[in-house]
Amino acid sequence: MSNEAKDFIREIVAGDLAGGKHREVVTRFPPEPNGYLHIGHAKSIALNFGIAAEFGGRCHLRFDDTNPSKEEMEYVESIKEDVRWLGFDWGRHLYFASDYFEQLYEWAVHLIREGAAYVDDQTAEEIRATRGTLTHPGAPSPYRGRPPEENLDLFQRMRAGEFPDGSRVLRAKIDMAAPNLNLRDPVLYRILHAHHHRTGDAWCVYPMYDFAHGQSDAIERITHSLCTLEFENHRPLYEWFIGNLPVPARPRQIEFARLNLTYTVLSKRKLLRLVKEGHVNGWDDPRMPTISGLRRRGYPPQAIRAFCDRIGLAKRDSTVDVALLEWAVRDHLNQTAPRVMGVLDPLKVVIENYPEDQVEEFDAPYFPDDPPKMGFRKVPFTRELYVERGDFMEEPPKKFWRLAPGREVRLRWAYLITCTGVVKDDDGRVVEVRCTYDPATRGGNAPDGRRVKGTIHWVSARHALAAEVRLYDRLFSDPDPEAAESGDDFLANLNPESLEVVEARLEPSLAGADAGERYQLERQGYFSVDPGTTDARLVLNRTVALRDSWAKIEQKLKG
Ligand code: ATP
Ligand code: MG
Repeated sequence: MSNEAKDFIREIVAGDLAGGKHREVVTRFPPEPNGYLHIGHAKSIALNFGIAAEFGGRCHLRFDDTNPSKEEMEYVESIKEDVRWLGFDWGRHLYFASDYFEQLYEWAVHLIREGAAYVDDQTAEEIRATRGTLTHPGAPSPYRGRPPEENLDLFQRMRAGEFPDGSRVLRAKIDMAAPNLNLRDPVLYRILHAHHHRTGDAWCVYPMYDFAHGQSDAIERITHSLCTLEFENHRPLYEWFIGNLPVPARPRQIEFARLNLTYTVLSKRKLLRLVKEGHVNGWDDPRMPTISGLRRRGYPPQAIRAFCDRIGLAKRDSTVDVALLEWAVRDHLNQTAPRVMGVLDPLKVVIENYPEDQVEEFDAPYFPDDPPKMGFRKVPFTRELYVERGDFMEEPPKKFWRLAPGREVRLRWAYLITCTGVVKDDDGRVVEVRCTYDPATRGGNAPDGRRVKGTIHWVSARHALAAEVRLYDRLFSDPDPEAAESGDDFLANLNPESLEVVEARLEPSLAGADAGERYQLERQGYFSVDPGTTDARLVLNRTVALRDSWAKIEQKLKG
């Protein structure tokens, strides 16, 4: 496959391979196991695994688990599942930064011996306060001049557990006046008497992200270390470590813009808050932008990959319209989801001239545009049906082509019916619509050629499956939930109508549908069978409405 000039990173990779700098491209996806993956991570996954696949290289999955207090096995497992589900494979290249703790420690000792690292007894507070600013240089630590032997001794005793948390750190000795603050003697190791999910209690000193990341890349002989823009001014430090340590390879860090989406929050910290404070029902709530949430909602992995492909790569941060993601989902489901009928807001229809005990079955194609593609199912028709309440109006405006007193409408795949009257309850609410059907219109066309504009969906009342249908909408009502003008709390922008649960009536072919199956309910949208479905209770999640109803409503509100 040719990727010439597809984006600036692929251009660099192609150039490095063509110029003989590398024989093989090796990338990695390096999540910290402190939360579930989200759609932003999907961009990074698609990029790293995509480049490896396109250029015949490989991509590692490496857990950046240098931070013992936050990491949990649950996150590791969910991340693996999500990457696999997205369609990517790390083969045997599964790594953990914690596997490199011993090597990283040795490299820290190497720096100490070279006089390029020292143990600082200052508190974190003092270190921060003496770091200087963009306009003022930092002040050297009083411990900066410690001789290597003393540093070595102290560092070994730090490792041996002699000192309490926070009492000492190991710092690189670089330049307290460097214009880049990351080079002002950054902390390499801190003391943390904490249990680690993989190394247990073996360690009580842990490397900082910056000291672990580039060296882990080097150990794995990563050629191109792709990360998001916030690491751009960490690059000099990344290169300083690679240049000052006897590492086996020299990876190159390249930054790209992270994904931001309208109506969406993509910070793990904030997603964790949504979960912990109960604003959603867990990490895999279908309203969450997590991979597990999108999966549960019914988003196909192919659509997520197509979306990532389409947004491309940039060197400047920007925000992508979430409608583009929804478009990709519709585009894929339009090709792949069988069409069935279901009524979300049931209104009973009685066909007065249809025999009480009669049942007819219609062969309805699952994919009307190309019936052989998915075959047919049987749809039973009886005297009592349900139609959508919104498909009936007692006093309709002119262009309402659906059911109304005296008007004729087509029941999808079945007959033309004409409304003869209504039954109301004590409050004047229509509870039943009375109709007659024309037996000559079986299949939906009148032999006399009369034209009927409206076609509506329906289910046989007697055969209908009762199901819980969860109608999801955007979790936030503001396109920029984190915008300053809406207060500093993004929770103020939660959409109170992000979930509506309805008791629907579905055609019987859906009986026994398996979790994860996706359907189009005709005229309504795409739906996916929730994993919480049981034999006794079918639960559907609305993946996405057919057209962008939200945009329309919004336009109306604005207009
Ligand atoms: P958060 O800031 O939400 O905590 P993170 O960047 O700390 O996320 P990591 O687990 O460190 O989460 O991310 C793993 C990889 O995914 C990193 O290379 C990171 O740059 C990338 N990544 C994270 N968020 C995005 C995003 N929104 N768009 C593109 N890549 C992202
Ligand atoms: Mg991170």
